[in-house]
Amino acid sequence: MNSSSPVAVFDTHVFPASYVLGRKQWQQQVARLAGATSIASYPCSGVTPEGEALSTDTVWIGDKDAPKVLVLISGTHGIEGFAGSAIEIDFLNLLRAGQFVIPSNTAVLVIHALTPWGYAWHRRCDADGVDLNRNVVDFSQPLPKNRGYDLLRPAFFLPDAQQRKQAYAEFAHQHGREALETAISGGQYNDPAGPFYGGNAPTHGRLVTEQLIREHSLQQRDLAVIDLHTGLGSYGYGEIICDHQPDSTGTRMAHAWYGDSVTLPLLGTSSSVPKTGLLDYAWHAIMNERSCYITLEFGTFSTEQLFEVLLRDHQLWAQATDLHVRFTQAKAMRHHFCPHEQAWQEMVLFRARQVISQALRGVSS
Ligand SMILES: [Zn+2]
Repeated sequence: MNSSSPVAVFDTHVFPASYVLGRKQWQQQVARLAGATSIASYPCSGVTPEGEALSTDTVWIGDKDAPKVLVLISGTHGIEGFAGSAIEIDFLNLLRAGQFVIPSNTAVLVIHALTPWGYAWHRRCDADGVDLNRNVVDFSQPLPKNRGYDLLRPAFFLPDAQQRKQAYAEFAHQHGREALETAISGGQYNDPAGPFYGGNAPTHGRLVTEQLIREHSLQQRDLAVIDLHTGLGSYGYGEIICDHQPDSTGTRMAHAWYGDSVTLPLLGTSSSVPKTGLLDYAWHAIMNERSCYITLEFGTFSTEQLFEVLLRDHQLWAQATDLHVRFTQAKAMRHHFCPHEQAWQEMVLFRARQVISQALRGVSS
């Protein structure tokens, strides 16, 4: 029997130690890739903890006139960019090695770090506390109300975790478990210090998205968009969440391309509840009937832990004035959104490769 050490199937060095290093590694892969064009940077205000510039970076791979496009998005929620970078770098690596082949009628647009400030500072939101994935609403209209959030808001900033838990339990007992999750995470527009705040104007990530759609005439092409997220659902599993309407062509495409594992918040089959202002909606608005948008959400720990780690993060950022003091919460955030465990990281890379190949096959057919 062969007693040598097991073969390493996945190189988890693609998981970066910081936004700066992730960006550098991503740029190096892009620079080495034949067929990479339209390499662009979209600067974001602010700096990293190391004092470096912040930017969303993009690359177009393949024919610039391709009628079909796969779009990969990382870091919609800043800190989730650790896994998002890894998936994109792994994909670029495989492309260069010829292990991923892009069909001739298809191009790939890779978007790196859509919320670079949150990635650099280990937060989900941007520097103004805005969650890009609640930000795609019409700000000229009255903003959505979240009464459950308003009811629970006093509990969020209680210093004692047990008291918070008690308040959640009472709310869930009265209104149900889904109502509790919607109250906390569905999106809110009147509490900038709190979690899941959708803001009062379009954020950097939304503006860059709209600019990319215009610059690459994406409304004229068939699109498979994969938005990479972490922190919700079963440990290591990549859930394909479809926020299209259940009876829409978007949902039909999702089922045709990704099969039976697709889940729909609107049907209650997802670990995510329906939410307001999703980034999805910016893309749904320009998509034809041969396109769909999915969130590929990698689970880590329980939803209770997610809410707890996020509330601690918002409490600390609301209290401390020194940015670097606030950054002390970074370790817990990092642990929740990108566990430093080889097995978790390998599951992420495996599933991402699988879903990307489904997307390429589906959109190009
Ligand atoms: Zn997310």
